[in-house]
Amino acid sequence: MSFQIAVDGPAGAGKSTIAKKVAAKLGVVYVDTGAMYRAMALYLYRKGISADDQAGISASCNDADISIAYEDGKQVVLLDGQNVNDYIRTPEVSQMASKSSANPDVRKKLVQLQQKLAETTSVIMDGRDIGSCVLPNADVKVYLTASSRVRAQRRYDELVASGIDCDLDQIEREIIERDERDMTREHSPLVQVPDATLIDSSYMSVDEVVDAIIALVSSKEE
Ligand code: C5P
Repeated sequence: MSFQIAVDGPAGAGKSTIAKKVAAKLGVVYVDTGAMYRAMALYLYRKGISADDQAGISASCNDADISIAYEDGKQVVLLDGQNVNDYIRTPEVSQMASKSSANPDVRKKLVQLQQKLAETTSVIMDGRDIGSCVLPNADVKVYLTASSRVRAQRRYDELVASGIDCDLDQIEREIIERDERDMTREHSPLVQVPDATLIDSSYMSVDEVVDAIIALVSSKEE
């Protein structure tokens, strides 16, 4: 039987940093579902489809060939067989992903892929709808959040480290906008499900959050 850990929360809450560390400590596979929505957004962006053209997105999304591979334990997202990890973190792709992820056809395609990944392997999966939709029976569910300023600073640091020029205030505005869209959309909005444990990481170190999640896992395994 595979063990499932679901981590949901708003943009930049530290989900991927934390989930990667928990995965390494527990020897389970980390699945970054945001990267799949980003790869889909890149596909639509490259095809010249507008983020507001829902009919165009529905008509094209099933042609996108998105898959996941692991290289040296790191998740690699493949679009048409090509590693696109380096192209999916730009502000343009973030905005596109935030809008195209509201499309039910996009969600249907990617949720199927995510559920298949978790069928046979123990996973820690992060996203917006993991505890509510993708893995509703997950053994452990976490809702990870932090203040919008702290989250913006983290995303800013990540972008600067990868050589992308950006502005902190603008990142915070975009994060608030994306949260608003994720929380109010019709299909699979971001919610804290009743059986999820809330962790506010604003004033916690990465290791403190990792330890808190591992403690939750241990309490389930007892
Ligand atoms: O987590 P990340 O910021 O990389 O996700 C990119 C976008 O994909 C989010 O803004 C969100 O709109 C969408 N997303 C989603 N459901 C998920 C993961 C991400 O709607 N499970």
